[in-house]
Amino acid sequence: MNAQDINKRIRLIMHLRTMGVTDTDVLSAMERVPRDEFVPKEVLDQAWEDMALPIGRGQTISQPLVVAKMSEGLRLSDRDKVLEIGTGCGYQTAILAHLARRVYTIERHVPLQEDAEKRFDQLKLRNITALAADGMKGWPTMGGIDQAPFDKIIVTAAASTEPPQALLDQLKEGGIMVIPVGPPGDQMLRSYQKKEDGSFTIKDLMPVRFVPLLPDVAKDDEAAA
Ligand code: SAH
Repeated sequence: MNAQDINKRIRLIMHLRTMGVTDTDVLSAMERVPRDEFVPKEVLDQAWEDMALPIGRGQTISQPLVVAKMSEGLRLSDRDKVLEIGTGCGYQTAILAHLARRVYTIERHVPLQEDAEKRFDQLKLRNITALAADGMKGWPTMGGIDQAPFDKIIVTAAASTEPPQALLDQLKEGGIMVIPVGPPGDQMLRSYQKKEDGSFTIKDLMPVRFVPLLPDVAKDDEAAA
């Protein structure tokens, strides 16, 4: 890494601090994960800018500030088992992998899921399990083994009105889910904490713009979401 790259990284971290990100574990994970490894060549020079960038198939890599705020909102501990819906390029997944014990991540576009998995290998992130499936149904039982319930759940695509019931069900008591909710143009990032009686404490975190959560695994010829 050259001096210019290091400067770009440091500038982004300082910017996140001025934007109100205070969790030092989150800031240090964001400094360590090479965002330039997650973006297409055409936008490489913008990899350390605080903006969402296109990654193909009509999808985007999330804005660093939003990744930081979502990670903070989960209040992660290194004992947590986390479920992520919407792997995309895998950038948020890699940040979570530095902060939690184990990350299970689901993406509905098979080629995106495969590319993300290659990146996890290259970066030697060994505590991630990636799956191509419909994440609105939660993590499936595989070989008779259930991974649910999860300590934390993060959804990086927007639910139109309410979080999918299957995801609320897979959250542990006391656990937190962070998810954007609302129609395009009017989405709010929310956190849902599950109480003992199964009801939720809901908090609004910030207005955001995400692609919508869509059902089923994407068809090869599916147009941009
Ligand atoms: N987390 C990514 C951004 C993801 S963009 C980052 O760090 O940059 C949202 C992703 O959610 C897209 O790749 C989209 O294909 C995926 N998605 C939408 N609906 C889904 C579903 N039901 N199950 C799994 N993935 C879904």
